[in-house]
Amino acid sequence: SAKAAGRNTMRFFDPEMQAAVSARAALEKELRIALQQQELRLYYQPQVNEHGAIIGAEALVRWQHPRLGLVTPASFIPLAEETHLIHPLGLWVLETACRQLTRWSSVPTRAHLVIAVNVSVRQFRQPDFVEQVCAVLDSSGADPRKLKLELTESLLLDDLEDVVAKMTALRARGISFALDDFGTGYSSLAYLQHLPLDQLKIDQSFVRDLDVHPNDAVIARSIVALARNLGLSVIAEGVETPLQRNLLAGLGCPAYQGYLFSPPLTREAFEIFAEEWEPESDERD
Ligand code: C2E
Ligand code: MG
Ligand code: MG
Ligand code: MG
Repeated sequence: SAKAAGRNTMRFFDPEMQAAVSARAALEKELRIALQQQELRLYYQPQVNEHGAIIGAEALVRWQHPRLGLVTPASFIPLAEETHLIHPLGLWVLETACRQLTRWSSVPTRAHLVIAVNVSVRQFRQPDFVEQVCAVLDSSGADPRKLKLELTESLLLDDLEDVVAKMTALRARGISFALDDFGTGYSSLAYLQHLPLDQLKIDQSFVRDLDVHPNDAVIARSIVALARNLGLSVIAEGVETPLQRNLLAGLGCPAYQGYLFSPPLTREAFEIFAEEWEPESDERD
């Protein structure tokens, strides 16, 4: 009705909503400029095995904003995903990580490091995603066996056949796949056996209260057992205390990532960290 339409039109001029809309539009514009002006930064968070050795790093994007300082991905990745900006952003992350792999490949103490790159569902959904990744591998010269892509369970709401076909093609090139934030998403376990995965990543929400909530330990233990039964590796994220690390080790989880070891670091800081890191120094219980 005209009245309803009138109300809808009125709502457009709701100052609060109008402010939100223009703030969003402004942010989108700024993010587009950020991509051109190279304001994005790729940070690296160490991943550690049961012996305390650094086995790789997760690449995590930040935005070095001229006024706001270092902006966390939680405040711009969702916007990037709603717009087309996730495509150039995702490509930049992938290119930067692959160039890093190539640089590390010639340094004996770093040549073994695997970089895990987060891939948005929308990015993965592009028809030419496989070709894009292969092109980045070719142009960077990165060893595909050192590249891991982190996907989330929301991917499974998509055409499973297409998802499996893309993963299979990329695995044939040597790339591996981790399922990120595992246990928090669309959790039908049946699909898991169809996915050509390499790793489950225990979500930090199950790690946080591992020592106080027995149920979280039960879930973590189940994920570890599930991974083992499916022939997958497993890593826990958000490990902050020696107790959490030790409990996870006791559950059979052999790899960890979290503030206990290090927060995400700039490339330079990561390299210094990796150089100075002594596995034994991890025996802090
Ligand atoms: P994620 O992939 O699950 O990454 C783990 C997040 O946990 C990171 O947050 C990391 O800094 C944080 N973290 C690591 N250790 C600890 C810990 O011990 N305690 C706590 N409380 N947190 C810890 P960050 O860097 O803010 O990233 C948030 C999310 O943004 C990521 O979650 C990922 O979903 C997304 N993201 C980050 N970088 C990218 C990217 O390059 N591309 C895409 N598509 N998404 C990204
Ligand atoms: Mg991740
Ligand atoms: Mg995660
Ligand atoms: Mg998470």
